[in-house]
Amino acid sequence: RLDVRAGLRRKDELGLVSEAFDEMAGRITQLLRSQKELLANVSHELRTPLSRIRVALDLAAEGDAQTARELLPDITEDLSELERLVSDVLTTSRLELVTDGASGVPPLRLERVDANALLDKAAARFHTARPKHRLEVQVDGTLPTLEADPVLLRRVLDNLLDNAGKYSEPGTTVKLHARAEGDSLQVDIQDQGIGIESEDLARVGTPFFRTDRSRARTTGGVGLGLALVRRILEAHHGRLTLESQPGQGTTARVVLPGVGAADTPDGRLAAGH
Ligand code: ADP
Repeated sequence: RLDVRAGLRRKDELGLVSEAFDEMAGRITQLLRSQKELLANVSHELRTPLSRIRVALDLAAEGDAQTARELLPDITEDLSELERLVSDVLTTSRLELVTDGASGVPPLRLERVDANALLDKAAARFHTARPKHRLEVQVDGTLPTLEADPVLLRRVLDNLLDNAGKYSEPGTTVKLHARAEGDSLQVDIQDQGIGIESEDLARVGTPFFRTDRSRARTTGGVGLGLALVRRILEAHHGRLTLESQPGQGTTARVVLPGVGAADTPDGRLAAGH
């Protein structure tokens, strides 16, 4: 009888091992599939701006100095797109966004961050990256200090500003509006671009999702930027909301708790650094 029981226990154990094995195999398959998808998307998206830069450089080399100067803004935009793509892929792997889904909290390197300086630098980078757009910056009053990972917050602002530029026409205005909302920092990034259909609003921010409107444009993208933005903001106990009117424009709102904000459930950001 004892042997029978031991045998049953053994069977149970084997069942558990086999379940764990199945789960592991599933995860590995999923990981390989998402890595393959990432690689395929990224290599495709690298090709477009790279070949445009090649064509522009060939034209510049054949033409006079004036022609070359006129081509510079296009080359700059394509280079910015490439830079953003590479940064997104690197941040994606740092946050294990694609392989690990939404589980786990990414490791944050927290520092005191001056919101004004953060926004100024992002605005300056936008000027350089999108020379054909106008940028209006409005800062109301004193902004709260943040306890945040500055490298990741830079990704948030660069991605949102870059989308505002990418999905709107050259010559249009992008507005950056920052203010304190209680203890939190609220930043609105508003464009006058193609907009997002209401049925797509809930889906943008899912890795690799791109709207038909954006696919129709010549500018590329992999559909990782907003997913990163959401994940980074979540990790900072902040949030992203999007409002959009197709054909009119989009407003992305970032809310980030400042130092001393009450809504830090686990006290991680409030801990005295
Ligand atoms: P990417 O821009 O690389 O495609 P994102 O994750 O940054 O990826 O954005 C996902 C999708 O959301 C975009 O492909 C586009 O369809 C849509 N989108 C994001 N920002 C805007 C915007 N400001 N205006 C219109 N569509 C946008």
